[in-house]
Amino acid sequence: MNVKREIIDVLNAAEQFFKQQRELYGDELLLADSTPETTSTQGRKDTLQQTQQTAEPQNTGLLGSSPPISPQNTPIPTGFTMRAIQLPLEPWVDAPTLTTLHSMIRNCTKCALASTRKNFVFGVGNPHAEVVVVGEAPGADEDEQGEPFVGKAGQLLNKILEAIQFRREEVFICNVLKCRPPNNRDPLPEEIAHCEPYLWKQLELVQPKAILCAGRIAGQALLKTNATLTQLRGKIHSYRGIPLMVSYHPAALLRNPGWKRPCWEDVQQFRKLYDELKAQGQHNA
Ligand code: SF4
Repeated sequence: MNVKREIIDVLNAAEQFFKQQRELYGDELLLADSTPETTSTQGRKDTLQQTQQTAEPQNTGLLGSSPPISPQNTPIPTGFTMRAIQLPLEPWVDAPTLTTLHSMIRNCTKCALASTRKNFVFGVGNPHAEVVVVGEAPGADEDEQGEPFVGKAGQLLNKILEAIQFRREEVFICNVLKCRPPNNRDPLPEEIAHCEPYLWKQLELVQPKAILCAGRIAGQALLKTNATLTQLRGKIHSYRGIPLMVSYHPAALLRNPGWKRPCWEDVQQFRKLYDELKAQGQHNA
């Protein structure tokens, strides 16, 4: 019995290890190159200016045939500099407000997730938010309630936001996908290709000062990269001229509490970035 128990423990440990690797690195497990999370924060005490970097835009398999985004080599802007992006030639692209956009896309059936969703999950929060939080896709609770980041992961996100002096109501929260992938699997490239333009339009309407991506997939999607979470964290990227940072998804933190500390460091950096942007805005006003 003891041997059987030991084998089960080893298998459980292996499963947990591979889940963590997948969250950090995606389907291409970079086992040979896997760096402990603690080293990824090396130099994170540097100033924001020192750590400021841009992501290399790459058209990757993850994103399929999505329209390209402008090169991202812009420094932290001194004001809102969101560059134009080519949206599909569909009626919703002219929506003047989030409310109108919601009503125009809520019955979307562009991908197979339309047939399995309980609710379309548009997004929630301040339509003129200075900060937008982007996750990857609705989970079971979100699908049930039609709102992103609810349940335990949502409560944790609320705490994270409060810890850096943001209230949930003052930011805007949404996902790359508006419908839940079955069994919470990762979004498929074609699903992202179909759905991401809605997110681009949401960001265009909200015009945030800064974007916080919760998790690898949201970061990869908006930055057009296959970089790992370890590579994406701790840097200021640019999405169409808007500073963007990537940290852990709250659901991943619930599974791996050891990641809460590096996440805390990430969001503190994000707050510092936001404060600098605010100060620049006031200075330029
Ligand atoms: S996931 Fe996006 S593209 Fe697919 S059906 Fe839902 S709203 Fe439409």
